[in-house]
Formats: sequence, C-alpha cells, structure tokens
Amino acid sequence: MGDTPLPEKLLDVYGRLLGRYGPQGWWPGDTWFEMMVGAVLTQAAAWGNVEQAIVNMKGAGAMSPRAVRGMPVERLAKLVYPSGYYNAKARKLKALAEFLGNRFNDDLEAMKREDPWALRAELLDVHGIGEETADDMILYPVGSPIFVIDSYTRRVFSRLGITPEKGPYSAYQAIFMDNLPADAELMGEFHALIDHHAASICRPEPSCHGCCLLDVCPTGARRTRN
Ligand code: SF4
Repeated sequence: MGDTPLPEKLLDVYGRLLGRYGPQGWWPGDTWFEMMVGAVLTQAAAWGNVEQAIVNMKGAGAMSPRAVRGMPVERLAKLVYPSGYYNAKARKLKALAEFLGNRFNDDLEAMKREDPWALRAELLDVHGIGEETADDMILYPVGSPIFVIDSYTRRVFSRLGITPEKGPYSAYQAIFMDNLPADAELMGEFHALIDHHAASICRPEPSCHGCCLLDVCPTGARRTRN
C-alpha cells in the first residue's frame, strides 16, 4: 500500500475489518443518555464492569439526567461502584446531567442542532469529560461525524505504518477527519471495528497469522517473515 493515497488506505482497512468482523452495532445503550453514561463509565474500565454499573443505575431508576441530578452523589457512587473510580465517576455523571439540563433542557434534538465542534468545546468544559469521551458522545448518541481516537486506534494504525503511535489527540484525529468521508455511520462503525480488532487480534502481542490486514501491514510482514 506504499503509494496508495491515504483516503483509499483508510477505506481499505475499514472494508477489510468490516468484511472480517461484520457490523458491531455500537454504541450499546437503550437511550442516548445511557450511551453518554457509558462513555463516562468506560474511562479506565472494562466494558463488562460498565454494563454492571448501568444495570444498577437502571434498576434504581437512575438512567435519566433528571434522576441523576436529583440523586445524592453518595448513592450514585454506590450504583456505579462496579466500573471503578466510583466516587469520581459519580461526580462526573452529576456534572454531565447538570450540563444537559442547564444547557439543553435534556433535549437530544437541541444538541443535534449545535455545530458539533462548538458542542465538543462545551463538553470539554464539563468536569470529567476529556477529548475521547466528548467525541464518543458526539459521534454515537448525537450522531455527528467526529472520529474517536483511543489507545487501540493508536496501536493498530502505528503498526500499519499509517500514523505515529504517539502524538497529540488532535493531530491524530485530523488524519482521519481529513481523509474519511464526513459520515457518522462509517466513522462509528470504523471505531468499533478498530476496537474489536485491537482487543481480539492486534493485541499487545498480536496474532498476525490469519489477520485480515496482514498483507497491508509492515509490522505483520516483519513478524511473520520467518
Ligand atoms: S498483521 Fe499483526 S500487527 Fe498488523 S494489524 Fe494484523 S495483528 Fe496487527
């Protein structure tokens, strides 16, 4: 893929991953608010533990911005205990719910009408929301085309020789924003596929034999040479 233009390279990787794994159905959640809650709770947590915390919140009738605002933070912390850092995460959920109420009257459609980059800047001002979390929220529940960067993306694309492994989030994100169609469905599916691939095959110790990207991957070529 040495001389292939970057847009074609990225779409080739996308097509291969989609062909191998199929649609991932992200982001899991019954409501837009549940998706946003998941984006906060998944910080430094395995998804299985996040699911348990979400089950707890739903069981307690706490899966709405209004319910979160009205709940003592100590009670919320007990509900999200399985996701780890539960005191901090309870405070983050309270801050998110306050923001959603004050700024958008808990109305997703009002958020959708915002310019996504302006919305992103506002989310980044909310306690506990960083770039990856804000982009998860804008891409999935809001449905605007913003590419999410995480450690899995960095690992896979540095091994493919398309990006450096390190670098500021914005520079990394620009590689995808500048070379992919502005299509939220495609970007959401691509991010999910990358995470699935990195968690199952392109792990810290990758399983390159049989990888669907092997013939376009310089790292895989080196590792399977002998
Ligand atoms: S060939 Fe190996 S290093 Fe390359 S993407 Fe596949 S698993 Fe990762």
